[in-house]
Amino acid sequence: MTDISSEPVVDLLCDLIRRPSVTPDDAGCQLVLTERLTQLGFVCETLQFNDVTNLWARRGSESPVLCFAGHTDVVPPGSKDEWRYPPFEPTFDGDFLYGRGAADMKSGLAAMIVALENFLAAYPNHGGSLALLITSDEEGRARDGTLKVMDTLRARNETIDWCVLGEPSSQHTLGDIVRIGRRGSLSGMLTVHGVQGHVAFPQHADNPIRRFAPVLAELHEVQWDDGNEHFPPTSFQVVDIRAGIGAPNVTPAELSARFNFRYSTEWTHESLQKKVASVFDAHDIGYELNWHLSGEPFLTEPGQLIDAVSQAIHAETGSTPELSTGGGTSDGRFISPAGTDVVELGPVNASIHKIDEHVKVEDVITLTRMYQRIMELMLL
Ligand SMILES: [Zn+2]
Repeated sequence: MTDISSEPVVDLLCDLIRRPSVTPDDAGCQLVLTERLTQLGFVCETLQFNDVTNLWARRGSESPVLCFAGHTDVVPPGSKDEWRYPPFEPTFDGDFLYGRGAADMKSGLAAMIVALENFLAAYPNHGGSLALLITSDEEGRARDGTLKVMDTLRARNETIDWCVLGEPSSQHTLGDIVRIGRRGSLSGMLTVHGVQGHVAFPQHADNPIRRFAPVLAELHEVQWDDGNEHFPPTSFQVVDIRAGIGAPNVTPAELSARFNFRYSTEWTHESLQKKVASVFDAHDIGYELNWHLSGEPFLTEPGQLIDAVSQAIHAETGSTPELSTGGGTSDGRFISPAGTDVVELGPVNASIHKIDEHVKVEDVITLTRMYQRIMELMLL
């Protein structure tokens, strides 16, 4: 048996894990990628926005553009003593490689680079163009990352037709799930005003908890939607409520709450906000409501890209992937609005953001072949 730890993609993955690129610090990862891409004939641009380093690399000027996208940043390791192996020292154990970012998502990055090298060695005169969009701010606020790169591209009329995001989409085995969209995420920050008073004299006070309670009950009773062909039902969750001033004999002057919608394409953030306002306005309650939109839902319709990704997975595993819109948000929310088809395919996500994050070494090699097949199906 050959030693898989000496495969070029595994070597590159180890190099990336060794760089402690906790958001937004890229820790030199993009420099490593840039060196490899420049050798392949890519024009590489570093796009710096505040403390976030982004990379836009492109080879060719023709349409269509097939772009691989992802992030070099990782979440903090937490207590290093709890790790089986030091988080930034890639360590092989059995079939697995341990290290922060092993699954989310330095495997995806390494697989993209080596897949590009193999593809271009075999087909230097392919059709269309190849591109990479890499950020160091996916795990953080995500304001100066992919969003700003897309703004930059839009300003110069540069478009991406198809995008493969290397996020860890798989659940049990490599390629069992690909993401073809994501739910939207909208948060409400609420303040309900009242008048503070003595608990024994409620007639002289106006308790905001009492005013808010029926509204809260009604919000939980609304059947937001039943989902649709591609999305689960929209969910409404309250994440925080606080009001009391800490004394048992005082009713509070103010209540604050925070809630979140994970919503399907049956809604936009505007239509959700309107519906919530109508529930509040049906009650006699003085309130202020501020909204934060993390991302509208997006969906890539069945077509050439999804077909190619499914076919590439089938060729390597013999199975057909489940097409899913589950999970949290991803940077796909910034790329899709430009009219780009976005599909997410990456390693198994069971250990992401956890202590002892790891990836099956064989999967990284297979993922590289999947990416190469996608290029062959889209650009030849
Ligand atoms: Zn990620």
